[in-house]
Amino acid sequence: MSTPNVLIVGAGPTGLINALTLLRNGISVRIIEKQDSFQLGTRGCGMQPRTIEMYKLLGILPDLLEVKTDPFPVVKFSSPQGDDEEGKVIPMVERIENTPSRPYNTGYMLMQERQEHLLRTRIEKDYGVTVELSTELSSFEEHEDHVIAHIVKHVPNAGENTEETVKVDFLVGADGGRSTVRKQLGLPFMGDDSESLKEIGMVAGDIEALEGTLDQKVWRMWGDTTSNLLSLRPCAIPHKTHLNFFIGGADVNLEKVASNREELVNAIHAITGRDDIKFGKVINLGVWRPNIRMTSSFGKGRVFIAGDAAHVHSPTGGQGMNSGVQDAINLGWKLALVSKNLSPPSILTSYTAERVPVIATMLSKTTELFHKTFQPASPEKMAEGWRRGYELRMFGVNYRKSGIILDEKYSYGADEAVDPYRSGDDGTVRAGDRAPDAPKLSPVGQTNATTYTTFLDLYNPAYHTILVFADPGRNREAIETILETIRGLPSSKDIIKTVVVLPQTSSSNDASTSSADMVLLDTEGYAYKHYDVAGDSQQPTVFIVRPDGFIGGLVFGVEGIKKYFGLILKL
Ligand SMILES: Cc1cc2nc3c(=O)[nH]c(=O)nc-3n(C[C@H](O)[C@H](O)[C@H](O)COP(=O)(O)OP(=O)(O)OC[C@H]3O[C@@H](n4cnc5c(N)ncnc54)[C@H](O)[C@@H]3O)c2cc1C
Repeated sequence: MSTPNVLIVGAGPTGLINALTLLRNGISVRIIEKQDSFQLGTRGCGMQPRTIEMYKLLGILPDLLEVKTDPFPVVKFSSPQGDDEEGKVIPMVERIENTPSRPYNTGYMLMQERQEHLLRTRIEKDYGVTVELSTELSSFEEHEDHVIAHIVKHVPNAGENTEETVKVDFLVGADGGRSTVRKQLGLPFMGDDSESLKEIGMVAGDIEALEGTLDQKVWRMWGDTTSNLLSLRPCAIPHKTHLNFFIGGADVNLEKVASNREELVNAIHAITGRDDIKFGKVINLGVWRPNIRMTSSFGKGRVFIAGDAAHVHSPTGGQGMNSGVQDAINLGWKLALVSKNLSPPSILTSYTAERVPVIATMLSKTTELFHKTFQPASPEKMAEGWRRGYELRMFGVNYRKSGIILDEKYSYGADEAVDPYRSGDDGTVRAGDRAPDAPKLSPVGQTNATTYTTFLDLYNPAYHTILVFADPGRNREAIETILETIRGLPSSKDIIKTVVVLPQTSSSNDASTSSADMVLLDTEGYAYKHYDVAGDSQQPTVFIVRPDGFIGGLVFGVEGIKKYFGLILKL
């Protein structure tokens, strides 16, 4: 086997997204998974809007659209359910209309098992890379310019294992909450050790519902955590009637309910008061106990951790899998540039610097929801625990205070706090924020004037996209100087795309007047509006969009561009 650049340990969503990001960048990977079969079950099934945008960035949105479902209406019943009780609809996730700047404003549902299948299939189809099952990382040694990994291959039923030593440039531990990589790095896993947490938990898993008893159109709940709570949510697998369940609450003996199928079904019948609900086989079943922890550093030297390996938390709020996706992409593009010897290894420290504040904030939000749901001070607080705030859609996640972000328009005082989960509330668009979308952008010079594109169609994990907001009618010389500066950057053709964005009122309609990769006319004015640039601006405004879809630089000319890439590349 040829030596890959990066060894990825763990084939959950984090490892797979990291692999795809690296592969899209031309970096070779090997993905190892210690289990002898792929994980089953619903688990992280709520895909937040920002994760959908990340899927688009990675070129896998069409795959997702084929299999996803929209969030189900949540209907709550008493426990036990009264005769003919119709249930009350709970406003858990508010459906919000899409907007030109946020074209995916409400999340999707896709059980984690199917999400992982989608990712594995795409990786195999596009790159011929498959996950190596029964292959476990046992230890590693980190050296100045490489990592040595010791791997054990379990040979099922043979009772023998084979050992292998591999040399790689980097190692990524996407190996879940009990991460071997985190432990060997000696990173602390700080969190809540309070006794009261140990008393809480739920039985979770998936079960086959026999047809005709419960439809697959709504998410049903009975009772509450002060006594007993049951949730039955459709798994939405075509031609199957599987339901994802969780059962918890003060009166529930979790170990007993999780001990076998009969106990589980008895508990469901008791909580619902309905023994007309018939079940088939149990797909998976286990007790979940809250573990709320994170590490202070997401890596050391050439070894990194991501996803649950770096942070574990309550599923309330549906942020876990979604945060792992963002870790994986944040790390992926940086590792790619360092592997290509275009960026200094020091850029990799920004992975920890950018993700730690975001994850710490996420932990406090999901923990607050957890306490309201499982240890409510009042019925009102419990109702709040089921309401998912807008910020959980993750549009506001930002890296405004990162050391590799450059903002020539806005500045912050040394002590000024920035909420890593909320940007854009004040109507500003700053470096470090999510790069907004804008539709109805018409490529100038194309014969078919009805072909439009959007910014989210252009962003790509393999390059920086530089948006130059300017009108050649006023700024032709300045635009060309900017483009020339960019062409002078190392490997610019491979890692940077330039786009000149003309204001709606521009009379320039000849793309040959610019040497940019693309010239777009902002036909409806969305681009200028969403990026807060005046159409009659006297100087170009430049947004440097990073490969992860965040604005890296907001600058006004060549000095700013050189300064930004001075932070990113070996110049
Ligand atoms: C009941 C429940 C509901 C949830 N709901 C949501 C939700 O709605 N939304 C959401 O965002 N998140 C949710 N989550 C959280 C989500 O499931 C996790 O955050 C997600 O699985 C983390 O992905 P990961 O790839 O980081 O880790 P994992 O999925 O844990 O994958 C790690 C992989 O690494 C492998 N591995 C471990 N050690 C080694 C080794 N030494 N060598 C090789 N392989 C190894 C493991 O076998 C495993 O396959 C939920 C979790 C639970 C339990």
